[in-house]
Amino acid sequence: MGKSTGPSCKVCRREGMKLFFKSQRCVSEKCAFGRRSFAPGQHGKARVKLSDYGLQLREKQKVKKVYGVLERQFRLYFQRATRIKGVTGHILLSMLERRLDNVVFRLRMSPTRQQARQMVCHGRVCVNGKKVDIPSYQVGLNARINLKLDEAGIKKVRECLEASKDQSIPPWLNLNETDLTGSVVKLPQRDDIQLPIKEQLIVELYSK
Ligand code: SF4
Repeated sequence: MGKSTGPSCKVCRREGMKLFFKSQRCVSEKCAFGRRSFAPGQHGKARVKLSDYGLQLREKQKVKKVYGVLERQFRLYFQRATRIKGVTGHILLSMLERRLDNVVFRLRMSPTRQQARQMVCHGRVCVNGKKVDIPSYQVGLNARINLKLDEAGIKKVRECLEASKDQSIPPWLNLNETDLTGSVVKLPQRDDIQLPIKEQLIVELYSK
């Protein structure tokens, strides 16, 4: 599967909120959204009232960008979510959260999802003792995540943990900072996902 590319700060400006694609830069005065909080492009400052469809589309685009998923894969997530019993929007978000690259990021082992994705692709992440190099891999309940890194890599991860120590780890995950392992203690529920997402809009969009 491909990955989202392109200038990430423009995504924040387009969506009208900070989506934190760049770790420390996002909390500094260099943040592009902080300096220019209007949409990018020639007519970015114009106030445009979006239609219902426009709102739904923007919400979908935002979630895709946050998790670094392209349209085809995102649609597959949605289709799978509709086949599972429960609230489709919640299931969709839960599936996105359980992506291995997101889990590495949520465990604060990497400053961004993009870098977490790279760690996975380079075979630096193991699930239950086995190397997994698929960023979209769905971690299951009780899965144990550990890293296969040299000394320099371990140092980098420890620095990342130190830099992000004021950020909490979601309640569905547990991190052992001593041996740099993580585990899935429960499956993520909607309340565990603290993102400003109106998933119902995405369900409405795809249900047309
Ligand atoms: Fe978004 Fe600001 Fe981070 Fe750029 S620096 S990705 S605008 S939050």
